[in-house]
Amino acid sequence: MSRVWKNIPLWQKILGALVLGLITGIVFAESAQVLKPLGTLFINLIKMLIVPLVFVTLVTGIIAMEDLKKMRRVGIKTFLIYIVTTAIAITIGLIVGIVLEPGAGVTLDAAKNMTVTQAPALIDTLLNIITKNPFSSFANGDILQIIFFAIILGVSINLSGDKGEPAKKFFNSIAEAMYKMTEIVMGFAPFGVFALMAWVSASYGMDVLLSLGKVIFAVYLASVIHLLFTIGGAISIFAKLNPIRFFKGIVAAQTVAFTTTSSSGTLPITTQNCVKNLGVSKPVASFVLPLGATINMDGTALYQGVCAMFVAQAFGIQLGMQEYMMIILTATLASIGTAGVPGAGLIMLTLVLTSVGLPIEGVAIIAGIDRILDMARTTVNVTGDAMTSVLIARSENELDEEIYNGNKEHEEEF
Ligand code: ASP
Repeated sequence: MSRVWKNIPLWQKILGALVLGLITGIVFAESAQVLKPLGTLFINLIKMLIVPLVFVTLVTGIIAMEDLKKMRRVGIKTFLIYIVTTAIAITIGLIVGIVLEPGAGVTLDAAKNMTVTQAPALIDTLLNIITKNPFSSFANGDILQIIFFAIILGVSINLSGDKGEPAKKFFNSIAEAMYKMTEIVMGFAPFGVFALMAWVSASYGMDVLLSLGKVIFAVYLASVIHLLFTIGGAISIFAKLNPIRFFKGIVAAQTVAFTTTSSSGTLPITTQNCVKNLGVSKPVASFVLPLGATINMDGTALYQGVCAMFVAQAFGIQLGMQEYMMIILTATLASIGTAGVPGAGLIMLTLVLTSVGLPIEGVAIIAGIDRILDMARTTVNVTGDAMTSVLIARSENELDEEIYNGNKEHEEEF
């Protein structure tokens, strides 16, 4: 029995668990809620990995790029791809929102009893990136601060020349251990995914889903369009690679993103998928992916586009070209400031709505179904990060095409 289990590829087990969880939730309804602790266990295991993994992989990513020029080049390219794809994503969200009119005919009573959390001011988010005390950032799990510190530390180690060598060895060795730990945790993914999916489908009754079905449909449609055209298109046009192989290579990460709704939480498996299945070099993956899991949120951006349209329509407010431009700008910035954790995008939505004078109460209506929207946007977020790592690796000649095309296995255990 355990031999059979071992021989099934991880992504198939996870995908199977997802379907089984969905069915279990529908069939057993409320009783399926007992499975929630199993899901929480999995989420806690993943959370345990996030801080050390982001820190160590980013430091190793930087120290692998000894050449400062290369680091600058890769950094600029990565950032540009993040910004451009995010802006495209919001535009798709806005267009889908305009065409499908998800807010037309929605009753707004649902907003009455809900409280709305305000998003932090953008300038504070940006200033806070510089940590006053790295150890408190670690303790609080403040990812942007940890990223900032990791980048400076990596660069400083490189600048230390020979004296920095032991530090390089140390970080590389810890990184290997962290990858091993990831593998162990991921072995548990099918059970965690099963439990989380059962819980989600048991907690949302059909009524909730039907009344706000149009927003859900609009967000999912915009996600599919972005996945197929923007991401699939970039892979085939700019990287000149087969997009089907790309999607096949990251299906495990997508499934984990879909059920955990956390791109930071999915980072371990995204990294593993990109290196092992798509042939992205470890240095590129270690640089691009932790950054992406924190600042690159195509899915969150397109969700904000759809939701802004939804709220405008539900409250009967007409938006003009200037407002659309403003939404694109604030949603891009808001998605950068969104943490890769469940529900963060909903809080940042208040920022987008206020920027064009839309009522924040709209957030309260969306809150009721946010988990379902979060599942779609996190999947897109993670896929966008993976796409960027492929594009960067390809342009830096650090993508092993044999691995990408499935002609060769990654020689290392991962
Ligand atoms: N849950 C999303 C993520 O982790 C962020 C969001 O809420 O939009 O990628």
